[in-house]
Amino acid sequence: MSVPLFDSTTAIEPLREQIDAALLEVAAAGQFILGPNVDAFEEEFAGAVGAAEAIGVANGTEAITIALRALGIGPGDEVIVPSFSYYASAEAIPPTGAVPVFCDIDPASYITSADQVKAVMTPRTKAVIAVHLFGNIAPVAEIEALGVPVVEDCAQAAGSVGQDGNPGALGTIASHSFYPSKNLGAFGDGGAITTSDRELAERVRMLRFHGSRDRVNHEEIGFNSRLDEIQAAVLRILLPRLPAWAAHRAAAASRYEELGLGRLVTLPQATAGAAPAWHLFVVGTDDPHQLSQQLAASGIESRGYYRRPIHEQPSMSSWRPATGSLPGTDEAARRHLALPISATISDEEIEQVVTAVGAALS
Ligand SMILES: *Cc1c(COP(=O)(O)O)cnc(C)c1O
Repeated sequence: MSVPLFDSTTAIEPLREQIDAALLEVAAAGQFILGPNVDAFEEEFAGAVGAAEAIGVANGTEAITIALRALGIGPGDEVIVPSFSYYASAEAIPPTGAVPVFCDIDPASYITSADQVKAVMTPRTKAVIAVHLFGNIAPVAEIEALGVPVVEDCAQAAGSVGQDGNPGALGTIASHSFYPSKNLGAFGDGGAITTSDRELAERVRMLRFHGSRDRVNHEEIGFNSRLDEIQAAVLRILLPRLPAWAAHRAAAASRYEELGLGRLVTLPQATAGAAPAWHLFVVGTDDPHQLSQQLAASGIESRGYYRRPIHEQPSMSSWRPATGSLPGTDEAARRHLALPISATISDEEIEQVVTAVGAALS
């Protein structure tokens, strides 16, 4: 029996008929942009997150850029971002005119601490992107206590819960991705911004629609960045299932631990008070390449996602950290390996993974 790294389809099988009907309804109504499904989803998503407002946008990358623009970030500003993340976390910064400043992470949790942010703050720091990587929760309140607004990157944290609430409701403003493989995935690209600051929400609505509030006057250079009706109709059906899917992901992680996986590899450590709905179950090991190859021979998929940290990507060469290395980032980049997890992974699959890891490392 082979075990896939992730599985985004099995969980939605029971919802097929309902989804098909909703898709046909949107097609029949013929309103594809900013219609009733987007309105309803924005309200439902804000409620689920625990924020006052949610605004649908085209994808999770533009959600970050627009959130930064709504905060007034522009040329001459610096935005702090962890180098160990998906590339888009940092790629979203330069389109605002600001520059990325890379901070380190703790390789045990893959999350940045307030001290690591503080270490790279300057008078030009205007925002911090706190990434809830792999579904773990970043210490947003501690970072905001440094006196700088936080944009939460929640792309991998749908369904996770932190000690102070849900990701997306912990800081000034937050970005979400509904890319199909994420914990809450649409049938194409999609994203959202959440905030409890009404004024910021109004600015986001203006920016996502060509910098216009009334569709006649264009007060700023904005974006054409909208969640479409088809995606919103699908997401409205999936959103109520998210808590159960998140619980399954958390239970799978506990099962990995109970079966002794932690004696073979380093398990991901939840941050203080966090109950992560692990989007990816990422362990640490000295030779992830060899382990991955041996697992593949047993039909088990695994993958190193961020082998090359963002600050070492060619496109980021102008913004490499002045101080040289980011030791936690380098360690995580070298040692991490994602093992199978999904909203429907079975006990047998988890046992098979643990047995194969044990055999490979014995
Ligand atoms: C997926 C992802 C994004 C970007 O989301 P898209 O919807 O693909 O643009 C941003 N940050 C992180 C951490 C991600 O995993």
